[in-house]
Amino acid sequence: MKKILATALPLALMGVEPASAEGVAVSPNGSRAHAIGPAQNFTGHVLVEPLFAVDQNKRSIGGHVTFSPGARSAWHVHSTGQVLIVTDGVGWIQEDGGAKREIRAGDVVWTAAGVKHWHGATATTSMRHISITFPDDPSSSRRLDGACYRRAVP
Ligand code: MN
Repeated sequence: MKKILATALPLALMGVEPASAEGVAVSPNGSRAHAIGPAQNFTGHVLVEPLFAVDQNKRSIGGHVTFSPGARSAWHVHSTGQVLIVTDGVGWIQEDGGAKREIRAGDVVWTAAGVKHWHGATATTSMRHISITFPDDPSSSRRLDGACYRRAVP
């Protein structure tokens, strides 16, 4: 173990990844293509950056979503719940039957399975959040914008 660290650390300091890296994978900032949020899931201008997808080791899907002022998700549910970590700005979230609530950078939001809700920017400010969802079957979806990520509710 000491020998591996002694080899890997100097390489890491030089910005070089050892060819035989074992359990640590770095996805560099700027390497993940942003996509426009699809119209069936969002209103207004929304950018979605996939952070990580389900594979053999990951049981969740992560994305960084940027909502321009006035942009929001459609009403939707998550079959196994969702974590939102607000990273920038001020936005709104509303649960069906509840009041619209303000969310700000640093807030962490849990939405339970099956709860109909929407989230997005306020009318005048942008909001950015990391979303983490948990597909029923991790092998069934590898795309951030797949059916397991978000199920739009009419
Ligand atoms: Mn949601």
